[in-house]
Amino acid sequence: MYVGIDDTDNKNEMCTTYIISQIARNSRYDIIGYPGLVRLNPNISHKTRGNGALNINLGKGAGNKKIIGKINDKYVYSYDRIKEEPDAYELMDLIYGIVSDYYVKEDENTNPGIVVSSSRFHPQLYMKALEDDIRPEFIENYLDGRAIYRKINNGHGIIGAAASLAWPAEKITYELLDYKYPHYNFLQRDTKLSMASIPEKYESTFNNIDYANNYPAIFPKFKTPVIFGIRGVNSYDLLKIYDEMKANYNIKDEGFIIFETNQGTDDHIINEPEYLFELGSYSITVVVSSYPYNIHGGHYFIGAKYKNIDINLAAFEPTKDFRKIIWSLIPGDVVKAYGSYSMGTIKLEKIKIISLSKNLKAEPPVCPNCRVKTKSKGKLDYRCPVCRRRYKNPEIYIINRKIKEGFYEVPIIARRHLTMPLKLINYFGEENDMYNWNSSNGQNHGV
Ligand code: ATP
Repeated sequence: MYVGIDDTDNKNEMCTTYIISQIARNSRYDIIGYPGLVRLNPNISHKTRGNGALNINLGKGAGNKKIIGKINDKYVYSYDRIKEEPDAYELMDLIYGIVSDYYVKEDENTNPGIVVSSSRFHPQLYMKALEDDIRPEFIENYLDGRAIYRKINNGHGIIGAAASLAWPAEKITYELLDYKYPHYNFLQRDTKLSMASIPEKYESTFNNIDYANNYPAIFPKFKTPVIFGIRGVNSYDLLKIYDEMKANYNIKDEGFIIFETNQGTDDHIINEPEYLFELGSYSITVVVSSYPYNIHGGHYFIGAKYKNIDINLAAFEPTKDFRKIIWSLIPGDVVKAYGSYSMGTIKLEKIKIISLSKNLKAEPPVCPNCRVKTKSKGKLDYRCPVCRRRYKNPEIYIINRKIKEGFYEVPIIARRHLTMPLKLINYFGEENDMYNWNSSNGQNHGV
């Protein structure tokens, strides 16, 4: 039986993933597969942090059993498959009790939602939750007759909860999250930097540490029960890294859980769409149409044309050295831009320079008789200052471009959860096929 949960936290407290760890600890049911941490539309305004929603499959397990966590020194196991489904209403009562214990009650903007369903939902719902700002009534209509749900406060969390159950898990990464409730703020920056360099030794991990910006990315920015989170494509490496961290640092944690996630998959990116919609995220091939310019605050922009519409590409201040790439583009360059779209601007997550145009510069010609550079007297009128002879044509120079064709990405410090790091492009492939889902290939998804 699948459970989806969202919207239990605020910026200063709690993390819905911690509630999953408490379900794993307290529940009388077995866990089937990994719990899911599913990131949804990064562009909606009412998210708390990274717009993550959670799911877990519970019941009587069968098949292979593997370790997916450890809480208070006891291993948490997961089974390959389900042999007996629990009663949906009993399960809802249990989950509702645990969510009620932990959600942030002092904040009226925390609106938990819980969905319990015997099957996953159609991937189109997941795709909609990556692209749109969905209204709660739409989800209630969708769930009626299909699943049971409960809301606390206005229950806005049912949107994320339902969408997380529609994730088809085509591209999967893992995150090991280590916990201490309510939070753990004792680590100095130097310790954090040296801890973050441990997972960096493993090729299968990503977004651990940003050396250029001295930023240990495995630690949360906000107060939460998460001590650190390590992301990777190999869950066994994550277990090894956890042991190495524990052996080398005196971390007084409660324990950890490994989640299956859509982080680092580019699932939010729609490739070369016919139209660009507000709040959507895209990869589009464009021709650069202006020289770059910057505005107060260190934000860089450049004009571009996509299928005859004029747009801007933006690299904001937090993207640091990535802005230099934008600064070196000139009109005529062809690039593939990846990022979210709002008010005519793509906020760049990465860019692929496909072809560079020639940077030509016209200079007054040298007079062949006097070997002196001529002076410009107006359009296509050059005069030798010595013999006064006139020349019509300038000399054209090709200026070497400082940049090369290929992929460039924003640094880890500015990277979004969903953005596929270049490191994973060979692992997953460059083009996104998420949006090829249609009604026929979703038949097993409870629609
Ligand atoms: P965290 O990353 O710490 O879990 P968060 O950023 O996920 O926090 P929440 O507190 O969970 O933030 O709030 C996100 C809210 O947005 C939830 O109510 C969720 O149901 C809702 N939501 C998620 N995706 C969409 C969407 N595409 N359209 C409308 N609402 C959405």
